[in-house]
Amino acid sequence: MNSIGANPYRSYVLVSREQIARNYRSVRAAVGAGVEVAGVVKADAYGHGALEVARVLCGEGARWLAVSSVDEGAQLRAGGIHGARILVMGGFLAYEGDAVVEFDLTPAVHSLAQIRDVDRLAAASGKGIHYHLKIDSGMGRLGTRASGGEILAALADTPHARMEGLMTHFASAADYTSPQTAAQLAYFDEICEALHAAGIRVPHLHTSSTNAIGYGRTEGWHTLVRAGHALYGYVSPARGDAPPRLLDVKPALTWKAKLMAVKELPEGALVGYGGSFRTPRAMRIGILGAGYADGIFHRLSNRGKVIADGKLTAILGTVSMDLTTIDLSHTTALAAGDEVTLLGTEGECTLDAQQLAKVAGTISYNILSSISARVRRVYV
Ligand SMILES: *Cc1c(COP(=O)(O)O)cnc(C)c1O
Repeated sequence: MNSIGANPYRSYVLVSREQIARNYRSVRAAVGAGVEVAGVVKADAYGHGALEVARVLCGEGARWLAVSSVDEGAQLRAGGIHGARILVMGGFLAYEGDAVVEFDLTPAVHSLAQIRDVDRLAAASGKGIHYHLKIDSGMGRLGTRASGGEILAALADTPHARMEGLMTHFASAADYTSPQTAAQLAYFDEICEALHAAGIRVPHLHTSSTNAIGYGRTEGWHTLVRAGHALYGYVSPARGDAPPRLLDVKPALTWKAKLMAVKELPEGALVGYGGSFRTPRAMRIGILGAGYADGIFHRLSNRGKVIADGKLTAILGTVSMDLTTIDLSHTTALAAGDEVTLLGTEGECTLDAQQLAKVAGTISYNILSSISARVRRVYV
C-alpha cells in the first residue's frame, strides 16, 4: 500500500478515469437512450479535475457538459474541449457576454430581462446564441418566477436569441417525506404546457440531478439530466420511504498524505495548537504533511480518522494549516515518507466522503470540492 516515492507529493489524489467512465455509463444506462446526460464538471469536477474528467466524458460520447461559471466554461474550451456543448448553469453577468460568444458557451438565463441581453448579444455578434431559461419552481434560488404568458411575451420580443432549454432545479429530491419535488414538477410542467400550447417547441426540458436520477424520479427526467455527484461515485442518502437506488456508482478518488515524522510521546503530553489532546498513555504519533489548507476540515480535530497501515486511526489534537497529527500506536510499520489514506480504501478499511462529512458536520459535496489546489491530482 505504501509505495514510497511512487508519487512524490506530500498530499495527492489518485483519480481513476475508468471509474468515472463506469459511473457515467451507469447514469447513461439508468436513464436510457432517449435522455441526454450532461456531465457536471463545475468546481473542478468536484475536486477531480475538470479538464481530465471532461476528456473522459467526451471519450464516452458525452454531448453535454455543465459548469457553474463562464470562467469554468472558458477554461474547458481553452483546454481543448470542443466536442461537447457547455451549459453554464450559473448564467452570466454583463461583463461576461463576450466570453459566452467567444467560447461558444450556452448560458442558463435567470430572468426575462436577461433574455433581452442575450438577444442583443446575438444580434451584435451575428451568431445565434442558444440559452436555457431557468425557472424558479420553488427552490427560491436562481431562476425566473415569471408566468407562462410573461415568458411568451419575452420570447416574441427576442427574435435573435434561441431558447433551447427550459430547466429547473430540485431542492429536496432525496427527501421522500417532503412534497416539494412534486410541487416543483407541477409548477414546471404548467410553464412547459403554456409554451407548448402557444406552439413553442423547446428541444430540451431538464430538471434532474443525481438524486432525482438515483432514486428513479423518472417524471423529472424529460430529455436531459444533469449528473454531477453520481459521476464521482455518490448518491445522497434518502429521507423517508425512498425506492431502491438505480445507480451502481463508486468513488473514483483516493486521497493520500505522507508522514513527515513518526515519534513517541510519553503519557500526559499535549498535542497541537491549544493543547486540546493529552496522551492518556505513551503513544506513537505520526505527523502528516497535509492540513486544513489541503482540505482536511478543521472540524475533524480530535474527531476524524484516517487509514494508516490498513487500520482506521484517530486524528489527535487540532488540524493545523499544513500538518495533521494521527495516532500510530497500532503499528511500527510506518516511517517518515510513508503514506496514509485520507479518503479511499486501504486493506480492509474504507473512508468515503459521506463518512467524513458526517464527522465534519457537512455534506460529501463539501468534502470533495474542498480538496485544495495544493493537493496534486494524479490520473490512473
Ligand atoms: C451542481 C448542479 C447539478 C449537479 O448536481 P448533483 O447533485 O451533483 O448531480 C445539477 N444542476 C444544477 C443547477 C447544479 O447547480
